[in-house]
Amino acid sequence: MTTNAERGGLYLHLPFCPYICPYCDFAKWPWRTAAAERYLHALEAEIEAAPEFAAQTIYFGGGTPNTYPPEAIASLVERSRKRFNVLPGAEISTELNPDLALCEGFALYRRAGITRLSIGVQSLAASELQTLGRRHSPADVAEVVSRARHSGFDNVSLDLIFGLPGQSVESWGRSLDAALALEPEHLSTYGLTVESGTPYAAWQRRDPAAFASQDLEAELYALAIDRLSAAGYEHYEISNFARPGFRSAHNANYWANGAYLGIGVGAASHLAGARATHTRDLKAYAQAALGGGPIPGEIERLQGAARAGEATMLALRTVEGVEIGPFAERYGIDFLSFYALPVAEMNEAGMLEVTPTHVRLSRRGRFLANAVCAAFLAAAD
Ligand code: SF4
Repeated sequence: MTTNAERGGLYLHLPFCPYICPYCDFAKWPWRTAAAERYLHALEAEIEAAPEFAAQTIYFGGGTPNTYPPEAIASLVERSRKRFNVLPGAEISTELNPDLALCEGFALYRRAGITRLSIGVQSLAASELQTLGRRHSPADVAEVVSRARHSGFDNVSLDLIFGLPGQSVESWGRSLDAALALEPEHLSTYGLTVESGTPYAAWQRRDPAAFASQDLEAELYALAIDRLSAAGYEHYEISNFARPGFRSAHNANYWANGAYLGIGVGAASHLAGARATHTRDLKAYAQAALGGGPIPGEIERLQGAARAGEATMLALRTVEGVEIGPFAERYGIDFLSFYALPVAEMNEAGMLEVTPTHVRLSRRGRFLANAVCAAFLAAAD
């Protein structure tokens, strides 16, 4: 390993799921043992062929990583350690589906060096889980958290979704309270996005009234901010809350526009200023990786104002916002003059907080982050 290897986050995509949820637009496939085994070999081959990299974090995402047995995940951690320079103290996370049958062997995760579990809870109301097509129950989630604690995990994150069909302010409040009762170190709350081509998109076309209005979504988001902040969680990114010291280091690197190396079907990398995305065609991916050839996909090299625009969009997601001094050093752009117009407009509209050193979203801006980002992107065109 040479010392000039890029440094950042290593992402490994495990795309198989025990079942397919009707709202999901990720690169995922139902579990088939032969395909899953072949895919594992493809991942191993891609790891071997990958560029040198210093991993500050490792993240197993999916799909459902825990459709694979814990031995497979442990062996991928081991392989990554051999192939890359995994830095001391690296945060190593895996996503988990809290399906009890898939949540065995957490002690092995610990022994492999996994430090953080991110559990796809989605809701703690049984009826909403059913609407989402999820097969776990609220009691299963509690059991999985308890297993994690018993295995020594002191960094557990829970993902929740708001704006679900049939969800009320009261039921969302109860889900938040039930999540807080499990004392996670970290919580992510995502507004439901209906992605085209999913069964949810067809449902929304048939019955738009079943889905949350923008006003209701804003009310649900406000409730999450207020309740989680009152419980001592820092709202450090639009969708993320953490107890002090438990921000997600892997995701923080994305928002800082850092380097990352993505391994697996559909995975994205940001290396040497270029963004590359692997094909989402499972067969094409496996064939290319196993053949040692380049993985088909897309590559984009952002430069100048486009690069700064993207960095702005990412930074605005965080509580720190854009740090004007470091931004000028890194992108060669004086933020306040280059973006004078959107800064003035958005500040006037109460969407931003502007200080001599930082530009960040106000509370109001967090509810309308897409509009704020669009204003900055338009200015960068
Ligand atoms: S939501 Fe998660 S478990 Fe459901 S299909 Fe998508 S990746 Fe798989």
